[in-house]
Amino acid sequence: MKEHQGDVKILAGGMSLIPLMKLRLASPGYVVDINRVKGLEYVEESDDGKTLLIGSLTRHHALESSALAKRRVPLLSEAAGSIGDSQVRNLGTIGGALAHSDPSGDWGATILALRGEVTVLGSEGERSIPIDEFLVDTFTTALGEGELITRVSVPIPPDSGSGGAYLKLERKAGDFATAGVAVQIALEKADGDRCTYAGIGLTALGPKNLRASRAEASLVGKRLTKEAISEAASAAGEECAPTDDPLRGSAKYKREMAGLFTRRALELAATRARKQGGRAAS
Ligand SMILES: Cc1cc2nc3c(=O)[nH]c(=O)nc-3n(C[C@H](O)[C@H](O)[C@H](O)COP(=O)(O)OP(=O)(O)OC[C@H]3O[C@@H](n4cnc5c(N)ncnc54)[C@H](O)[C@@H]3O)c2cc1C
Repeated sequence: MKEHQGDVKILAGGMSLIPLMKLRLASPGYVVDINRVKGLEYVEESDDGKTLLIGSLTRHHALESSALAKRRVPLLSEAAGSIGDSQVRNLGTIGGALAHSDPSGDWGATILALRGEVTVLGSEGERSIPIDEFLVDTFTTALGEGELITRVSVPIPPDSGSGGAYLKLERKAGDFATAGVAVQIALEKADGDRCTYAGIGLTALGPKNLRASRAEASLVGKRLTKEAISEAASAAGEECAPTDDPLRGSAKYKREMAGLFTRRALELAATRARKQGGRAAS
């Protein structure tokens, strides 16, 4: 990677890189296939049980079907199941999707909702980057020249009183999102279901996957009533930044959908959080 800096691309699942090369939108002189590099494909819990560790080469389908992910962070499995079709899910990887930073990608919003981080390795060593800093702009990340994503880490939500939901509006099954919303919340049951954590990530609603910060802030410390959810949904609709597009609709329509899907995702996450044990297997 160092030797061919500026003229080299990593190949993971190839689900984005190969179409780009076919269309001559990317023409790297060298392609480094990491598919046979050992130790990059895993879903594990950290020794202290606080973090879920995901190898960068982990396929979308592996996360969709992982018993550990379903039990500890079911939002990951739900989001993975909404990506493309089964061919894309069998080959595409979480590391490749985040490195690609497509604003219509489902992973960025999901990792934002969970406040995860991305670990990268380069010739200068290893560093971990919070997801908010990692996603810089459309198809642009904080990855330096020659750096490889090795791992994605997400905090494991509390066992009781937490719930997540990923909802995606698509024109047909397997399509990229017209609008998508990832929600993760935690409720303090002993305190009348007061919201202690809110993470909301938005897909296809801006130049990159966005955090709905105002919507999140409006929920924390409050009981998750209908009014509180409506207020957060309106905030998400206002703070997103969609654009008109001839295929998926006007910016106005997408804003409406951002509000509607935020409300639905919050309601679903709250129902799941209130269930005994706090989690539903999506
Ligand atoms: C028909 C179709 C439908 C799709 N639908 C969806 C969808 O609904 N939702 C969605 O989110 N995505 C969708 N995708 C994209 C899919 O999720 C891809 O898997 C993903 O964008 C890229 O992952 P990949 O592993 O295939 O990466 P690749 O295509 O191999 O690489 C993508 C980019 O990331 C870089 N890269 C890859 N791995 C690393 C790494 N470990 N470290 C640093 N850089 C790296 C590559 O150099 C390249 O620039 C779809 C793709 C297709 C073809």
